[in-house]
Formats: sequence, C-alpha cells, structure tokens
Amino acid sequence: MKVLLVAEKPELLSELAGFLKDLESKAGPVETAAFTAAPSLDEARKFSAYVAAKTYVAVAERVFPDQLSKAALDIVDRENPDLVIGVATKTGNEVVARVAGAKGIPMMTEIVDVEARDGALLFHRAVLGGRAISVLKPALPAAATIPARKYEVPQPGEPGELVEVQLPSSALSLVKVEEKEKGGVNIEEAEVVIGVGRGFRKKEDLAMAEELANMLGGAVGCSRPIAADYHWLPEDAWIGISGKKIRPKLYMAIGISGAPQHMSAVLDAKVIVAVNKDKNAPVFQYADYGVVADLYQFLPVFIQKLKEKLGG
Ligand SMILES: Cc1cc2nc3c(=O)[nH]c(=O)nc-3n(C[C@H](O)[C@H](O)[C@H](O)COP(=O)(O)OP(=O)(O)OC[C@H]3O[C@@H](n4cnc5c(N)ncnc54)[C@H](O)[C@@H]3O)c2cc1C
Repeated sequence: MKVLLVAEKPELLSELAGFLKDLESKAGPVETAAFTAAPSLDEARKFSAYVAAKTYVAVAERVFPDQLSKAALDIVDRENPDLVIGVATKTGNEVVARVAGAKGIPMMTEIVDVEARDGALLFHRAVLGGRAISVLKPALPAAATIPARKYEVPQPGEPGELVEVQLPSSALSLVKVEEKEKGGVNIEEAEVVIGVGRGFRKKEDLAMAEELANMLGGAVGCSRPIAADYHWLPEDAWIGISGKKIRPKLYMAIGISGAPQHMSAVLDAKVIVAVNKDKNAPVFQYADYGVVADLYQFLPVFIQKLKEKLGG
C-alpha cells in the first residue's frame, strides 16, 4: 500500500507521521511519499525526517488551497497512492477534498482511528458530538484527513529525499490580514485548560479562573455563551464543535453544563475535572473527577489549598 501525506505546513508532517506509525502498526509497512509547502527547503528537510520518505516541496511563504491541490494532483498522478492523507485544518480539509473531488475518490474527514480487518481498511470517524463512532469502509484509492494533534508525534529519523515542485498561480489574491484580539495563552497548546461557563455570574469573577490557570501554567477557555453571547472572553478561548478542539493534560470544566457541542472538543484531554453545583449536570458523565459544589465556594478554597501545596 502507498500513502501520500499532504501538509500545507512542514510541521504538520510530524503529525501525519504519527498517523502513519499507527497505520503501519495495524496494516503492516506502507510505502510513503509526502508533499508540503514550506518557507525554505531547509525547513522542509527538517520535517521530512519525521516521515523519512521522498518529500515534494513547494517553496512558498503563503499558499492558497487551490494552488496546493493542483500541485498535489500532479503528485498523485506521479505516485499513484492508495491513500491521500492530510491534517483536518481548514486548508488541509479543502486541499484533500479538492484532490478527492478531482480524482472522483472517497473523502473522509477527521479520522480518529484506522482498523485493518479481513484485508480491508476501516476508518473511524467521531459523530454525534463525539458520542458515537461511525466506521467507514472506502474503496481504495481514498482520501482522508486526521484531526490536528490527535496522533502522538514519533521520533524523527533521517530526512527524506526532497523534490522541489512549482506551485501554479492561485485564483485568489490576499488583500490584507487584520489581527484579531487574542487571549494570553493559546488553549490549543496549553497543557492545562480551565474552562469557564455560564455558572460564572459576571466577567470579573473569571479572575478566579485566570488565577487558577496562572498557578498551573495553563490557559482559560470557555463555553460558547461566554465568548459568543457575553463577549467576556475572545473567540480564541471558545471550546467546542464551533470553536477550538483541545487536548490538554488537564481540563477543568467549571460552571459548564457539559453539552455535547462543548464536550466533544475536550474528550482527548488526559484528565477531565468538572465542578458544577448540579449533581445531575451532563458534564459529570464525561469527567474523571467530579466536584458537586458552588464554584463561588469551591474555587477560593481550592486556590488557597493549591497555593499552600505549591508554596505560593
Ligand atoms: C449548532 C450548535 C453549536 C454549538 N457549538 C458550541 C460550541 O462550540 N461550544 C460550546 O460550548 N457550546 C456550543 N453550543 C451550545 C451548547 O449546546 C450549550 O448551550 C453551551 O455549551 C452551554 O454553555 P454553558 O455550559 O456555559 O451554560 P449552561 O448550559 O447554562 O450551563 C451552566 C452550568 O453551570 C452550572 N452552575 C450555575 N451556577 C453555578 C455555580 N455557582 N457553581 C457551579 N456550577 C454552577 C449549572 O448547573 C449549569 O450546569 C452549540 C449549540 C449548537 C446548537
């Protein structure tokens, strides 16, 4: 079997390498080629070491999906892969879907697992807000994307052979980029995320969550109403199917009911702690540890105890 990995940024090759390792552990060795756009060949070389395979590189600072997908199509014609795999970023989904559309092959987004059964590959996709898995059996060749940060990044090996390719021009041109208001720490990168919900009565009270996050070296995230309706936190902090997906070591959901649209985006957290005054709140179904308490009573005590523990 042959796999073509498609990454709009070279660092995504390391994530795709994680998928590849998982695939090989189930389906046996696969032949691999990769395609990435990178600001320089050196940058591409560094990350090609993760996939240890021939890597086609388009050297460019900024690329659009239409350019990438046309270049990827040429590579598909050269390499004839059984699988075309990208990362489910906005660009990744578009590029891989365009390739699949042009080739008339099946396309599956956000594949969380692969199974080899009776000589066939079965692809698992989380559905119903993460409460169910649909199992898909595509005819090969097929195309798919994997969620960002889903697969463990393996150790890099030796850099692969680099083949420089030219990008066709895009039908889009960039007019300008306007920076948005940003939260302090990126919740997608943070190892600890303190999630705040409508259990907080006013914006000033979020200071307790900020303090907790600072003590644990983490970031504050929120449910949709906190960002979208109350505007207490920027959209960058919004967690959920219409916000960000996170994979921290610890997620604390405080005053959050646990709607599937929120929880499906935190299920990859190693540990989930819920604090809610309603013992029947759905969030407890997802939590490893649950605290039934009024957050206004619990948080000051918890923060104080933590200070004592951490010596702060
Ligand atoms: C298409 C669609 C997409 C959506 N996308 C998202 C999304 O991406 N992200 C998202 O978060 N939501 C999303 N939602 C909304 C989602 O369904 C919920 O409405 C939302 O997550 C609820 O936010 P919440 O838990 O903060 O508020 P609530 O549901 O109002 O829950 C507040 C919780 O706080 C508890 N509480 C109240 N006071 C206290 C206190 N003093 N101490 C302790 N606990 C207390 C209550 O018991 C309650 O459980 C989406 C909905 C739809 C229809």
